Amino acid sequence: MSHACGHHDHDHTPAPGNTAARLAEAQAMCAEAGERMTTSRLRTYELILEASAPVKAYDVIDRFHPDGAAKPPTVYRALSFLEQMGLIHRIESLNAFVACGAGDHAAREGHTAGFLLCDCCGQSVEIALPALTAVDSRAAEAGFKVNRITLEARGLCQACGKDS
Ligand SMILES: [Zn+2]
Ligand SMILES: [Zn+2]
Ligand SMILES: [Zn+2]
Repeated sequence: MSHACGHHDHDHTPAPGNTAARLAEAQAMCAEAGERMTTSRLRTYELILEASAPVKAYDVIDRFHPDGAAKPPTVYRALSFLEQMGLIHRIESLNAFVACGAGDHAAREGHTAGFLLCDCCGQSVEIALPALTAVDSRAAEAGFKVNRITLEARGLCQACGKDS
């Protein structure tokens, strides 16, 4: 990946992980929850799992079929389903999606996703955050029910922060 600083050249390989195993696990999880993991949902998840960086909806649409694009509503519906199921996260500031980095279903359940986003190379790393009880209690005071929180921290990754 080329990027602004030019003082180094590192590339970001996809997080290690067996795509086939993650897909199978997601199917089992959906079945258990009584949800249908349709072909289009599965394909959307696969494309996000295989990407080395956060993926925008139109990239999923473009890559959907080897021989052509998907219908946008199909992909948007699949993305929102996968997000509801906790399999992917939306990074608002990039308007892009990443697969949840948590190891399994139990680790994913109810966790607060935090992202470290490098302004230089675009790398994104998910970190597990403890429960944000301050947000929850203030929300409760306001009579607001929090479904999910995603925290986005902008800055420089270790490689880009070096000798800059
Ligand atoms: Zn996550
Ligand atoms: Zn960086
Ligand atoms: Zn850099």
